[in-house]
Amino acid sequence: MRLSHYFLPTLKENPAEAQIVSHRLMLRAGMIKQASAGIYTWLPLGFRVLKKIEQIVREEQDASGAHEVLMPTIQPADLWRESGRYEDYGKEMLRITDRHQRDMLYGPTNEELITDIFRHHVKSYRDLPLNLYHIQWKFRDEVRPRFGVMRGREFYMKDAYSFDLDYAGAKRAYNKMFVAYLRTFARLGLTAIPMAADAGPIGGDMSHEFLILADTGESEVFCHRDYLEFDPLRETVDYAADLEPLFRRWTSAYAATDDKHDPATCPVPAEELMEGRGIEVGHVFYFGDKYSKAMGATVAGPDGAQVAVEMGSYGIGVSRLAGAIIEAAHDDAGIIWPDSVAPFAVGLINLKSGDPACDAAAGDLYARLAAAGVEVLYDDRDERAGAKFANMDLIGVPWQLVVGPRGLKQGMVELKRRATGERHELSADAALSRLLG
Ligand code: ATP
Ligand code: MG
Repeated sequence: MRLSHYFLPTLKENPAEAQIVSHRLMLRAGMIKQASAGIYTWLPLGFRVLKKIEQIVREEQDASGAHEVLMPTIQPADLWRESGRYEDYGKEMLRITDRHQRDMLYGPTNEELITDIFRHHVKSYRDLPLNLYHIQWKFRDEVRPRFGVMRGREFYMKDAYSFDLDYAGAKRAYNKMFVAYLRTFARLGLTAIPMAADAGPIGGDMSHEFLILADTGESEVFCHRDYLEFDPLRETVDYAADLEPLFRRWTSAYAATDDKHDPATCPVPAEELMEGRGIEVGHVFYFGDKYSKAMGATVAGPDGAQVAVEMGSYGIGVSRLAGAIIEAAHDDAGIIWPDSVAPFAVGLINLKSGDPACDAAAGDLYARLAAAGVEVLYDDRDERAGAKFANMDLIGVPWQLVVGPRGLKQGMVELKRRATGERHELSADAALSRLLG
């Protein structure tokens, strides 16, 4: 992409309305624009990041054996009357009346709709287990939308729903999602900590929230220091195998949010306990037959008797993650994208656009990188070098490749790693093989 042809409306000044760094940087980097409170347009740069996050979430869901569907955003109120949640949900639900005076709503979540799909199509235990997910916009009319996309009213969520014949099956489904979540967050460059969460009326240990540590997090969290070193990608996962031992291992260290944490019973000695704030990026939850019973989602079991299926739901805040990743990875100059979600892999800076030698060298690098399938943002604008550097630092592209008249005389370009600031002078060919290697 040539920057001169791109739509990247960056801001020089810090927007006054942004209280936290990720919101500030998303606005300054031209990633989002507010449409109204808690509702955002994703501009080209932000959209690229959102799609990369979504794709990693999708790959890990697919690997775990879940099937992707796409449910609508608008749902009929009648399904929610069946489950009893239409009144309960209160003011967070955006209620809509269509031209025929039918009560509709903009979905805040999809338990009812998915249970309706399930009961319509699945009649036998032989069709289980089943896990269906979608990645779709949700609307919750939050009292205090804030922090940009972190607590929006309209937000993008991956939500999966599992169906099993019995508790043992539901636990297997839960373990798969649990493992897939930790892999997902690790691939996004995040250290997410699974925390025992309130399991509601059903109780048990089948509710976990995944939090990343950040000073601006809304939850107070307590966990064993060991979690800071935790890397789930070190293990190879076989989803066909029993994941219970892995689940046990990955939950063996203590971690809890403040509503679960009790200093009196906390097993971790003070010097090994981390206390901080966290951002919830995902939640896995088992709720048994709560919806299947209320909505008549039963299957014929092996003995022919009808059984209300055991369900769980599993959410990831895809749009919130864009902000959460920035909270975890930035410096004074701007965003530092992990390679996996970076909007571009390489930012190519031409220090002297209009100079024939610089234009030729930068144009050649651009063409060769593009031919190799590398996503490059080429700053070909007629701008000061300082402004180009600041801009590339702000938008956080992981590699910067700098072509200038002085270096070219020695046959050199400069390669800079955004995360470390490390710079290398090398030939254009050497720079290319570094980037392609
Ligand atoms: P929170 O406690 O932050 O309000 P929640 O527990 O209500 O979230 P869930 O119903 O578990 O949220 O939704 C699954 C995921 O969706 C959350 O883990 C979070 O990452 C994301 N999410 C929830 N509400 C919002 C929101 N208002 N804006 C952006 N993302 C959200
Ligand atoms: Mg939650």
